[in-house]
Amino acid sequence: MAGGGPGAGRARRGDDQGGEPGDLLERDRRHLWHPYAPMPAAIPPVPVVSAAGTKLTLADGRQVIDGMSSWWAAIHGHRHPVLDEAVRTQLDAVAHVMFGGITHPAAVELAELLVEITPPGLQAVFLADSGSVSVEVAIKMALQYARGTGRPERTRLLTVASGYHGDTLAAMSVCDPVTGMHGMFSDILPAQLFAPAPGPRYGEPFESEHVAAFTGLLEGHRDEIAAVILEPVVQGAGGMRFYSPDYLAEVRRLCDRHGVLLIADEIATGFGRTGRMFGCDHAGVAPDIMCVGKALTGGYLSMAATLCTAEVAAGVSAAESGALMHGPTFMANPLAAAVATASIRLLGSRPWAAEVAAIGAALETGLAPAAKLAGVADVRVLGAIGVIETTSEVPVAATGELLLDRGVWLRPFGRLLYTMPPYISSAEDLDSITGAMVAAAEALP
Ligand SMILES: *Cc1c(COP(=O)(O)O)cnc(C)c1O
Repeated sequence: MAGGGPGAGRARRGDDQGGEPGDLLERDRRHLWHPYAPMPAAIPPVPVVSAAGTKLTLADGRQVIDGMSSWWAAIHGHRHPVLDEAVRTQLDAVAHVMFGGITHPAAVELAELLVEITPPGLQAVFLADSGSVSVEVAIKMALQYARGTGRPERTRLLTVASGYHGDTLAAMSVCDPVTGMHGMFSDILPAQLFAPAPGPRYGEPFESEHVAAFTGLLEGHRDEIAAVILEPVVQGAGGMRFYSPDYLAEVRRLCDRHGVLLIADEIATGFGRTGRMFGCDHAGVAPDIMCVGKALTGGYLSMAATLCTAEVAAGVSAAESGALMHGPTFMANPLAAAVATASIRLLGSRPWAAEVAAIGAALETGLAPAAKLAGVADVRVLGAIGVIETTSEVPVAATGELLLDRGVWLRPFGRLLYTMPPYISSAEDLDSITGAMVAAAEALP
């Protein structure tokens, strides 16, 4: 497009990497939506120009630790040489090719690896383009399985309060009914069944009362229920709650007893974050359908996967359509699949369980002083996840500034100040993160 045409004026100034930080923010403000934000954004975003290892480099030259692993994803840190190389190698072969009627080595290799590392029985892999879409696919699988096995009246899902499963409509319908935007979309969301949030807390003794309300709902509605969906052991964006694996084991038993499918949403918990490879591994259970995402590609590209058992696959394929009715344009994207395989192999080559345990120990020690602060309701750690729950809403802008001044990037929400650092974090990184979190908790109004 020599000289003229849309964008030409911008292209001419393209060599300045976006110009001065102030200019970049002004241009961002003019045109870009940010997650859960008004347009234009109420709080200016932080301009990041590059990243390496655990550090983000800001436009003003500051380097700050990515204490969020970019929303659970960058478990090996940024620009890991092994992952960079995997993308480059795949780029030399093919960046993308449609998956309808075509296959490629990157997809086949990833599918085999996922089947190998996930709980037993999961055999069929659907490679979706984001976590929310993998949840939509899981729900479609459950609904089509019901139809394919002669129970078309089973159209509802049973879940628990405080869950988070994504932002698309079906996924939203199983998010926590209070914090999950249900009020706003109630007239178009399918009405699902909600048991109380799972309990007891991780590590506390499980009693049958903990699952009584769930059991009542399952027994009372079993002929309407296509599947139970929940996040195993750790509920993420719905409240950063850690609950007993015995609860999950009991849910598995109840689903078996009543012939209801169990969907495990491991999008946040997968790939070692909770101290086990998957949340389900804490309870030794295998779901019928499982979603993975976030850390799947080591944080490089958007990809998720929905796995199911051979039995579910057969039931779905026996439905009137004779096929699973989903097929995104960027399904099984080769670049994403190649970096996912590299990330999983890299994880397997590292003593990740020891690394996660060491991070957990450092978070326990570092966050402990927050427990006695007036504005703090609870401090908890599981695997490489550290949470300070406060008694009132954390002021996002002021807290973000304070954390950045201490060299740490975190994104609090609601009454939660939390971290899930990259597994490569050093002792100094973890000191900085926990020190900044305690300082932020001390500064609460
Ligand atoms: C993040 C998340 C999702 C949604 O994934 P996206 O890639 O953001 O669409 C679904 N379930 C859980 C448990 C998550 O943490």
